[in-house]
Amino acid sequence: MDDLQFGTRDKRGDWAPKDVLEVAPFWYWPMSIGKLLRWLVGYVWPWNAFHMATALAYWYYIVPDAETMKTFAWGWALWLYVVNAAAIFVMYGAIELFWYVKRRQGTRFKYNAKFPADNPSDVFWFKSQNIDNFLRSFFISIPLWTAIEVVMLWCFANGFVPWLTWADNPYYLVLLVFIAPMIHEVHFFCIHRLIHTPFLYKWVHSVHHNSINPSPWSSLSMHPVEGFAYHAVALWHLVIPSNPIVALFQLHVAGFGAVNGHIGFDKLELTEASTLDSHAYAHYLHHKYFEVNYGGDGTIPLDRWFGYWHDGSKEGEARMNERFRRKRERMNRKSAESA
Ligand SMILES: [Zn+2]
Ligand SMILES: [Zn+2]
Repeated sequence: MDDLQFGTRDKRGDWAPKDVLEVAPFWYWPMSIGKLLRWLVGYVWPWNAFHMATALAYWYYIVPDAETMKTFAWGWALWLYVVNAAAIFVMYGAIELFWYVKRRQGTRFKYNAKFPADNPSDVFWFKSQNIDNFLRSFFISIPLWTAIEVVMLWCFANGFVPWLTWADNPYYLVLLVFIAPMIHEVHFFCIHRLIHTPFLYKWVHSVHHNSINPSPWSSLSMHPVEGFAYHAVALWHLVIPSNPIVALFQLHVAGFGAVNGHIGFDKLELTEASTLDSHAYAHYLHHKYFEVNYGGDGTIPLDRWFGYWHDGSKEGEARMNERFRRKRERMNRKSAESA
């Protein structure tokens, strides 16, 4: 497929989409109904539908019955870890294998023309972004994800928190499923902005940012503090009345959905004619420029409200540079005052 129909490529070979990023259409007035319908389709299909499908598959085939989950035991906890790790291995691994190892698509639709494997760097364990990211995902983040899952299910099973049934609360639970990705976006924005404060950035979040040119394995490559805070989004379902399937969905939007920002390609070519939108550009810009786009795609556009939004346009770039310039000035003034 000709990616230059959809974007431009610079001297370095980096590709950028022609269309600038837009926050969800209901934040514009007057609102375009056509855009709203297109947004709605993109909101549900395919990613959130996939996360719901995996949540249902877990509930019916993987998660033990409530009686078992009343008592904590290593058996079912380890079982959940094995399934989570295997699922991530297959899902993230397939994208790595076909798009990063076999490079079936070359650099078409790829934001950064380089592949991480071609650039060994000292910041990574074993000088390899791939090995470093892989080990951190499987031995730090996925165990923490599982721990949160176990605690959450144990609380539901014991009746420590309300367990609403689909029969009694169908509309409320469907609404909760619908807004769960928005809960994710707000939660992620808040913890993410917090770990970008200087002290937490240095000790916690810099681990994730070592991957300036992220690939799928970078998605869950986190310091333990971040790995916990990130997946803890599911614990909101112990605070708001919910159902374990919705809570699992929330957890999967975080765990499986982390890949979206780190795919590195704007579109994955599935066949000659069909592509899959990655929704990766906003977070790619975050990895490139660090202090923009702390949240997600702009469903709840906190980045725009706080002035951090970079939509990929020249104006977005200029706004960011102006903000960075003011920040430098403030810091220079501060250091001059304290000198
Ligand atoms: Zn990231
Ligand atoms: Zn960050």
